[in-house]
Formats: sequence, C-alpha cells, structure tokens
Amino acid sequence: HADAAMYRAKQAGRNTICFHEPDQNPASGVLRLEAELHTALAQQQFELHFQPQVDLLNGRRIIGFEALVRWRHPERGLVSPLDFIPLAEETGLIVPLGEWVLRQACAQGRAWAERFDPDLRIAVNVSARQFVGSDVVRTVSRELERSGLSPRNLELELTESMLMHNVAQTVKRLGDLKRLGVALAIDDFGTGYSSLAYLRRFPIDLLKIDASFVRDIGHDPDDAAICACILAMADALRIDAVAEGIETEDQLAFLRDQGCRIGQGYLFGRPVPAEQATALLARGAA
Ligand code: C2E
Ligand code: MG
Ligand code: MG
Ligand code: MG
Repeated sequence: HADAAMYRAKQAGRNTICFHEPDQNPASGVLRLEAELHTALAQQQFELHFQPQVDLLNGRRIIGFEALVRWRHPERGLVSPLDFIPLAEETGLIVPLGEWVLRQACAQGRAWAERFDPDLRIAVNVSARQFVGSDVVRTVSRELERSGLSPRNLELELTESMLMHNVAQTVKRLGDLKRLGVALAIDDFGTGYSSLAYLRRFPIDLLKIDASFVRDIGHDPDDAAICACILAMADALRIDAVAEGIETEDQLAFLRDQGCRIGQGYLFGRPVPAEQATALLARGAA
C-alpha cells in the first residue's frame, strides 16, 4: 500500500518505539498494538496538537494550524503518529480515529475562529482509507454541522498517491468536498506520483511542499530547484503553496524570494497542545 510504504519510509532512520518484547514474535507485538489502539480510542487516549501556519509576507502572522494527532500512552508516554497511523490505516481503525480527529479539530477551530480570527484555517490530515473507503463527504459535512465551524475555516490535507489511485472517483469526491465549501490541500507534494495533467482537473486550493525538499535548500541545488519549480507551477495554476518543515532563516529567505506565501515549521513553532496554541493566538491578537 503506497501510503503505508511512505510512512515506513518516513520512519526509516529514526528511533522508533519497540512495541514488542525482544524475545517475542514481532507479529504478536503488532496484534498487541492493534488491541491497544482499540482501547486507546475507547478510553480517549488520543490528543491533538496544533502547529502554526504563518503568513510569510506579513510578519509571520498565524493564519491557521495543522491538527496533528498524538497518543498519550499510559506507559510509553506520548507516541508519534508515525508509530501508529500505518497500523490504524491497515486495520481500518483510522476511520473512527479520523472522525474523532475531525470532530476535535472542528470544535477547536470553531472556538478559535470566534474568539480570534474569522478567517483562521484549521488543517486536518485525511488518510487514504478515509478518502477512498469511507463516506468522507458525509463525515465532513456532519462534523461541520455538529461543531458550527464554517466550512471556509476547514482545510483537508490529502496525499498525491490517494488522489491518483482512481482518478474518476477522486474528481467526484473532491468536487463533493469542494461543494461543502472546505479548502483542499495536497500534502507532502513532490514525494508521491502525480500527473500534472490531473492536477489541473482536481479542485485543489493548496500544495504543501514536502519538508524533504525544504531541508536541503541550502546545500542541494536540485532541491532548491524543485522548490522553486513547485512554487512557479502553483503560481501559474493559481494554487497557494505552503512550505513544510522550515527550520532556518536561510530556508525562509529562499522560499520567500521564490514567492512562497505560507510557511510551517519549527522556525515558527512546533506542534503544541491546544492551550499553548490558544496562547500563541492571544499573543498575536494583543
Ligand atoms: P504531515 O501531515 O506531513 O505533518 C507534518 C509533520 O512534520 C508533523 O509530524 C510535524 O510535527 C513535522 N514537522 C513540522 N515542522 C517540522 C520541522 O520544521 N522539522 C521537522 N523535522 N519536522 C517538522 P508528526 O506530527 O509526527 O506527523 C507525522 C505524520 O503523521 C503527518 O505528516 C501525517 O502524515 C500523519 N498524521 C498526523 N496526524 C494525523 C491525523 O490526524 N490523521 C492522519 N491520517 N494522519 C496524521
Ligand atoms: Mg499534513
Ligand atoms: Mg503526510
Ligand atoms: Mg506533510
């Protein structure tokens, strides 16, 4: 499965948590993790963190947040989504988990939009299984209604591979989502396979340039060229671009020079719990 493979690729090279005892069969570790994920959902062990997205042309003002799920595990502490989203995706648990994420994000977005900024955007990651194998349009519509969040405050992040899977169905689904009034973004842009011809047929509002290209802007001319190229293409297609994973002032300067309007990365802020994100908004508003 393309997305699961990508998560594994993302995981490669980092220290991942070992979910099974060393002397156990690894398969039993996976089974245990799967059982634990069910418990986690039932016992509300998941929580959302929020990472700011800032306007690069206007004093780094916060224009929105990406909602990122974490698992507050009773023994292991805070577990990264890279360590459980792939299994949640494989087992189908991502569908109820994704609904929970959407519900929390919409409620939080509504509160922030009312208190701080009627245009604030809340971005939510949608997995392949949610997009292809569940009634995502009904779920999104229901959660918007339940929360009272205006659709223009909600942005859904999809990946290239899930969109290219079945193009006819994708065009229909994206159209249905657009009719709800939400914004649509392609996440990790440049790392999957996408056809530029289809990109034009999809009603996409934003491209998120993958952090892997941003990381080496300073030392790898090819990565710098790819970033510049994506920005030029987005501009020509009148699609906004967000650069992910900005960590340094040099990366920021390059991206801004190339016309990038929105940024996300540790340079502006790490993902933080809701209360800390509220404090960031309050500081900006003051
Ligand atoms: P993503 O959607 O591409 O999210 C961006 C990831 O990059 C986040 O990792 C974020 O913490 C990290 N990041 C942001 N800025 C920087 C930076 O400057 N430097 C570095 N090194 N990293 C940065 P996180 O939170 O661990 O999430 C990893 C992935 O897990 C996400 O990648 C997304 O694909 C998936 N994910 C997270 N939450 C959800 C969710 O609610 N649903 C689904 N389906 N997937 C989720
Ligand atoms: Mg994302
Ligand atoms: Mg992603
Ligand atoms: Mg991304």
